[in-house]
Amino acid sequence: MIPLLHQSLYYWYSQNGRHTLPWRTTNNPYHIYVSEIMLQQTQVKTVLERFYFPFLERFPTLSDLANADVDDVLKKWEGLGYYTRARNLHAAAQQCNGILPTNANDLIKLPGIGQSTAHAISAFAYRESLPILDANVKRILHRYFAVRERNEKKLWGYAYTLFDPNSPFEYNQAMMDIGATICTPKKPLCACCPFEKWCQGKTSPLDYPMAKVTTQKPIRIRNILVYQKGESYALIQRRTQFLSGLWGFYESEELPDESLKFLGEITQHYSHFTLQADVYLIEEERLPEGFEWFSTEEITKLSLGRADHKVIAQIVQDQKKYHR
Ligand code: SF4
Repeated sequence: MIPLLHQSLYYWYSQNGRHTLPWRTTNNPYHIYVSEIMLQQTQVKTVLERFYFPFLERFPTLSDLANADVDDVLKKWEGLGYYTRARNLHAAAQQCNGILPTNANDLIKLPGIGQSTAHAISAFAYRESLPILDANVKRILHRYFAVRERNEKKLWGYAYTLFDPNSPFEYNQAMMDIGATICTPKKPLCACCPFEKWCQGKTSPLDYPMAKVTTQKPIRIRNILVYQKGESYALIQRRTQFLSGLWGFYESEELPDESLKFLGEITQHYSHFTLQADVYLIEEERLPEGFEWFSTEEITKLSLGRADHKVIAQIVQDQKKYHR
């Protein structure tokens, strides 16, 4: 059955696969590595249209990345979110002195590379015979084997059961494409699926895997105080774990002075909370501790999170009103 299933899979892939994606038409391990990290939490379209090529243009080799300032790496990552990925890429490039390991066992020792990513890089760049287990593949396996329980260890077992060790590149790419285009989370197209004949979950695919218990994200209420001195504004480079390395404005739970100029409200959804903030302008000569003054021109060269970009937009809008 397995060889037949693989035949069916490869036929489907030859007709429908996304063969022209640039990270599939290269053997450059570094390019494959960058694509795998970018694609971890971001859709193919976004990575392809806005981030993959500019990043590689700025950091053409792993050595260039290792020698770059982490602030430059974060700036190039701006808008892609989940900035830990960028910091880990940079740290990994330094850790391996610009030479990427050539097998999954060593790749997994680098920061930001888990088992599935290590397998993906190694299977795609070096044809190492290993299956991957990303979110798309997990969903297929849950349905194919009619397994509701979310158990990573058991899923790895299923991943190896279905895997074709003779064609790690094609097999894994095809699985990713089926997960992305056929066995989708909400509307699986079983009638078009190369696994349809053998799939144990096809009569009720939405039952697999069991639904996650969703908890409502907490809402964090804050005031953002934009310190202003003439044409300059105060920002700090964050050293906290969340958004570490990115620059931002002063955030406070308290509003120190009710008479501050109100600029507007912002809302920003993060993976684990939602930020709702009122933005105020505070004209002040003294900098808060750890902050630095920047002109709006200089701010555009800093790497900022999305919330702080929204604050900038409000400052610019206010400036326009003022100069009208
Ligand atoms: S037959 Fe349906 S449920 Fe099974 S793998 Fe294909 S798309 Fe998913």
